[in-house]
Amino acid sequence: MKVCILGAGVIGLTSAYYLAKKGMQVTVVDRQADVAMEASFANAGQVSPGYSAPWAAPGVPLKAVKWLFEKYAPLKISPELELKKVAWMSKMLRNCTASKYNINKSRMMALAEYSRDCFIDLRKEIGIQYDDGQGGTLQLFRSDAQVESSEKDIKVLKSLGVAHEVLSPTEILKVEPGLAPVIDKFKGGLRLTGDETGDCFMFCNALKKQCEDLGVTFKFNTQITKLVVEQGKIQTVATSEGNIDCEQLLVCLGSYSKEMLKAIGLDVPIYPVKGYSLTVPISDAQFAPTSTIMDETYKVAVTRLGNRIRAAGTAELAGYNLDLPKARTDTITHVVSDVFPQGADLAEAEYWTGLRPMTPDGTPIIGETPIKGLYLNTGHGTLGWTMSCGSAAVIADIMAGEVTAIDSSSLAVKRYAN
Ligand SMILES: Cc1cc2nc3c(=O)[nH]c(=O)nc-3n(C[C@H](O)[C@H](O)[C@H](O)COP(=O)(O)OP(=O)(O)OC[C@H]3O[C@@H](n4cnc5c(N)ncnc54)[C@H](O)[C@@H]3O)c2cc1C
Repeated sequence: MKVCILGAGVIGLTSAYYLAKKGMQVTVVDRQADVAMEASFANAGQVSPGYSAPWAAPGVPLKAVKWLFEKYAPLKISPELELKKVAWMSKMLRNCTASKYNINKSRMMALAEYSRDCFIDLRKEIGIQYDDGQGGTLQLFRSDAQVESSEKDIKVLKSLGVAHEVLSPTEILKVEPGLAPVIDKFKGGLRLTGDETGDCFMFCNALKKQCEDLGVTFKFNTQITKLVVEQGKIQTVATSEGNIDCEQLLVCLGSYSKEMLKAIGLDVPIYPVKGYSLTVPISDAQFAPTSTIMDETYKVAVTRLGNRIRAAGTAELAGYNLDLPKARTDTITHVVSDVFPQGADLAEAEYWTGLRPMTPDGTPIIGETPIKGLYLNTGHGTLGWTMSCGSAAVIADIMAGEVTAIDSSSLAVKRYAN
């Protein structure tokens, strides 16, 4: 079977690997010169099933209004009246009820847990290395109100059987001793012990070699211009380097999936939610994180990646804009200097921005479409690195006509039909 995959981010690449392992003849097409050059380039590094939850949650609309007036707020909304943004936000607001939150969270967690297990298997199978760690995620609470409000999350974690520990400030220091100089700022923590960490860009580059060994062909520097559908079946992909024919086509174009699919009459509710990261060499290891800490006040994750610290956060709704203004990166800089003041030399920080391909219900879109031969693996939002291997294993099973390891019936685009 000849399969063409559009997009060489972490989602396209993992899909290529799992499909090639099934004996498919895979070609991957991307406009960039190599893999993982867009959203998968410098994310926060969390492989975090324990933290998998939709942004659309009860209470979020009120919090969002408050954040609009804060300097280091986790959410920014550009003032331009963009129709796509307004339509996406209204769909997201409709997902903020308790019942929808529970449905969306359970879908996301099942996929993320499966994905983390796929990572474990992959490390065993091919010995892939990507500055990975298995030290969990530690949510840090600066106020009593945050500690109290974590109680309802703990109930959910218990009900879903997710491994976790509730920590006092003294106990926090046993897992993250680098916080000693600033521990007075924190009232408590919640540790998700099954979470992992790793550099998505390094992973993609290592997996590309494995893909090549399995016979995958990469066509880089190739702009995809159009999908051609005839008689309800996908026929051709038109690109800057000529047409590519295929029997099956898998779209993994991240934030750019929407426009490509709209042109063939398929509506996928994906909006680019901009985020920022910084990467800095560790200056003093005893004052650096050992794994990921998530500062709940600013929603900034700070992760240890080998001998570097990666911090990332902010959700900005500003279309496809990729500017990197200091006013936006100030939040991540502030958190690193506040939490690990002696661990990193911020003068050496490298800043980056990327677009999270977000769906309004937080769940990615994985599966078949009404167009014969056309499949989707896209819309992974805040958790594309976490869910990459699991999503790829699921779509490879679907495309091969096999039974998926987890229930995938509610992941396909048809869930938006009503
Ligand atoms: C600041 C930030 C922090 C994050 N932190 C985490 C985290 O800690 N954990 C986690 O799980 N996730 C995290 N994420 C999310 C995660 O990085 C994304 O969900 C994931 O990278 C999406 O991968 P993708 O392959 O779908 O998209 P991309 O990596 O963007 O890949 C899409 C590819 O399609 C190509 N493309 C698009 N249009 C065309 C075209 N017309 N022609 C040719 N090629 C095209 C692009 O070049 C690109 O390579 C974070 C994201 C951001 C921005």
